[in-house]
Amino acid sequence: MDATCFLGEPRVVISRSALLHNVKVLRSHLRDGVKICAMVKANAYGHNAELVADALCNFSADGMEGPAIDALAVATLEEAAALGEPPVPVLVMRPLENVYVAQQREALELAIAMGRMLTVASAEAAGDLARLATACNKRVAVQIMLDTGMSREGVCPVALERIAQSIVRQPSLRLAGLCTHFAGSEEAQSLFTLEQLEQFLLAVSPIAARIGRLILHAANSGAIFIVPDSHLDMVRPGISLYGIDPTCQPSADRPLRPAMRWTAPLTMIRSIRAGTAVGYGQSWWAKHDTRIGLIPVGYADGYWRAFSNRAVTLVHSKPAPVVGRVSMDYTTIDLGNIPEATVGDEVTLLDDDPLSPASAYALARWAGTVPYEVFCSIGQRMHRIVQRQERDGDDAERRLAEE
Ligand SMILES: *Cc1c(COP(=O)(O)O)cnc(C)c1O
Repeated sequence: MDATCFLGEPRVVISRSALLHNVKVLRSHLRDGVKICAMVKANAYGHNAELVADALCNFSADGMEGPAIDALAVATLEEAAALGEPPVPVLVMRPLENVYVAQQREALELAIAMGRMLTVASAEAAGDLARLATACNKRVAVQIMLDTGMSREGVCPVALERIAQSIVRQPSLRLAGLCTHFAGSEEAQSLFTLEQLEQFLLAVSPIAARIGRLILHAANSGAIFIVPDSHLDMVRPGISLYGIDPTCQPSADRPLRPAMRWTAPLTMIRSIRAGTAVGYGQSWWAKHDTRIGLIPVGYADGYWRAFSNRAVTLVHSKPAPVVGRVSMDYTTIDLGNIPEATVGDEVTLLDDDPLSPASAYALARWAGTVPYEVFCSIGQRMHRIVQRQERDGDDAERRLAEE
């Protein structure tokens, strides 16, 4: 049996210009003046929050002045702390729960000191936050999350007035925004989304009329493209920023560019005879003599076991199917149709071409999920790096001058 070995590193390559391009696509759907709050929760959907925040805050594509976006948002206090001090406001979307205030005291004090905008969904939590802010000698900007149909976090519209008043009464709090989240905005003509929007507007209008300069926001990627009436003062794109259509199908009307490419080197190539089994459980047998390529990435890295004998990788731009079970640290591919493949060659596990057989859309389909989960599953062992050389068709990008 002949085998050669090579040591290389798998990597997740992020294109800054794709991120900036996607912001431009999003802006083209918005009225002038509507702010963009980039969702960088869950490590920027697995893309690396530090890297994505840097691209969106400190770089500009041609034709754009200043940071590409107006705010950043995360789910948790820890994620907010990890962002450091970007030049735009940072929103923590997960409502503060008063039962956790004691445990989270340090994290909250840090968030208060760093000027984060915090979310509340109860008068009790607002009271606790007010006491902490007073102790820190700070005034905290807070927003209220309304539940208009997700039945998840947020206050019911009937309780909004009471919470708003409890915030307004506290000198250490400043009511800065009101928001809600849609349950199915990516569906065309979703009546449910329109009902959610109507409920939201009905509940917030009296408060917004009384208190000036409140930021109203609701739209995620689906609503940005499909429900223009939901744009209000600010939108909160996530998946579309990363170049994936919220319908989870590439769309010809929206030229989004996937920002992520995931590659790994071929670390070994082994010639096997027809009838040889590959991997755990002998789930695949070679029908002909062939060559099997080994990739040092497995389900521990988010390349799911569900891809076994299903997914396709690309080597020299040619499809190389995954054969045998994906194991924790390794994946094997059939190089039978790629005689030129040699050890050290780059294998594309997740392609940035939306129509590629290894696109995030395709991987999601093979695993019975959505591209969101494919991205979020990519493990910590995979280094995220910025794409160095821009490829044909990329927009020019420049670093903004340091203030
Ligand atoms: C994740 C999230 C978004 C972004 O949703 P996408 O569908 O990825 O655009 C917006 N708002 C909230 C509250 C979220 O949690």
